[in-house]
Amino acid sequence: MKRRLGFSTRAVHGDPEARPDWAPVVVPLYQSATFTNPVGSSQEVIYARYGNNPNHVAIAKRLALLEGGEAALFVGSGMGAIALSHLAVLRPGDHLLSSEWIYGGVQRLFAQEFGRFGIDVSFVNPLEQRTWKRGLKKNTRAIFVETPTNPLIRVLDLEPIASLCKTEGLALVVDSTFATPLNYRPLEHGADVVIHSATKYLNGHSDVLAGAVVGSESVIEEVRKLLHVWGQALDPMAAWLIDRGMKTLAVRVGRQNQTALAVAQWCAEQPQFTAVHYPGLPSHADHDVATRILNGFGGMLGVELKGGARAAERFLRALTIATHAPSLGGVETLVSEPRLTSHAGLTPDARARAGIADGFLRFSIGLEDSDDIIADFAQALAQL
Ligand SMILES: *Cc1c(COP(=O)(O)O)cnc(C)c1O
Repeated sequence: MKRRLGFSTRAVHGDPEARPDWAPVVVPLYQSATFTNPVGSSQEVIYARYGNNPNHVAIAKRLALLEGGEAALFVGSGMGAIALSHLAVLRPGDHLLSSEWIYGGVQRLFAQEFGRFGIDVSFVNPLEQRTWKRGLKKNTRAIFVETPTNPLIRVLDLEPIASLCKTEGLALVVDSTFATPLNYRPLEHGADVVIHSATKYLNGHSDVLAGAVVGSESVIEEVRKLLHVWGQALDPMAAWLIDRGMKTLAVRVGRQNQTALAVAQWCAEQPQFTAVHYPGLPSHADHDVATRILNGFGGMLGVELKGGARAAERFLRALTIATHAPSLGGVETLVSEPRLTSHAGLTPDARARAGIADGFLRFSIGLEDSDDIIADFAQALAQL
């Protein structure tokens, strides 16, 4: 029997194959829209829009191996991956039951766009187990959740939701962008489809926009058919960069897990932070669940600064290492204010109900030395 390879080895090599002599060690960039086609062949052609050039194929195989899925497909953005995978699973007349704690763009896609295709979407609080069952309709076809959530980093236990999906015959679709396959693999916990904004940790260098879908051969085949006609293809150069980025996924995220924990522990001791949201801290509401189901607590961290929006602004201006920018999952520490980004569409009241105080800051911890990040925070706090 073939020995099962570890996560890091799979991240670098996928399923290693014997190489001929004088072959390139790295999959070269195939910056070609089209490929020669044997005369008389009825096989699918290779065409960059189909997501089937050698760069696309290499990263799709590796991601499927990392998530433990049969197949995967990369597309032009995380939003593209979410749109196509739902179009693959849902039909006009269907109902989608979604967590209400999801990425803002996805919320708008579901609430404002799906109606035109005759797809009805309703939202529930994902932490109340009974609301899932209560939210089901006769025509419910799928459940969508994001875990860990943004920006409170709540960690959902998928197993009860997956078992409801099984009894009711629903597809469970999970946005696992914050987790990465190193920290959590939803398919091992009953999910049917896993989605990533590969813009974030999978690529990991804040220089590419991409999305990915992982699942069974048949689901991925459906998504692929949609990709052909909806035109969300990933550029070959972006695929090549993701290929490079994914090789270091385990070391990057492993280090980000450690650094974020150290930074969170330090933040928890500072009186100017009235709350610190990190699942690795015993004070976090989901610490027990997170300890049980995650392999690492991740690189995302939320803090609440005493003094609200004004203090937050002064703190942000004083930072010298952490960069004020949206997005996450790169090598550089980024900080954003959910009040003005992901949750800008909400009234102050609705934001407070969602647990986002006005002094809330979200950090995506990078690969800098933890001492330097902490020193940067300390000098910024000292200026308040
Ligand atoms: C960024 C993000 C998305 C959207 O991804 P894009 O690559 O920007 O299209 C979706 N879900 C989550 C959780 C994200 O963080």
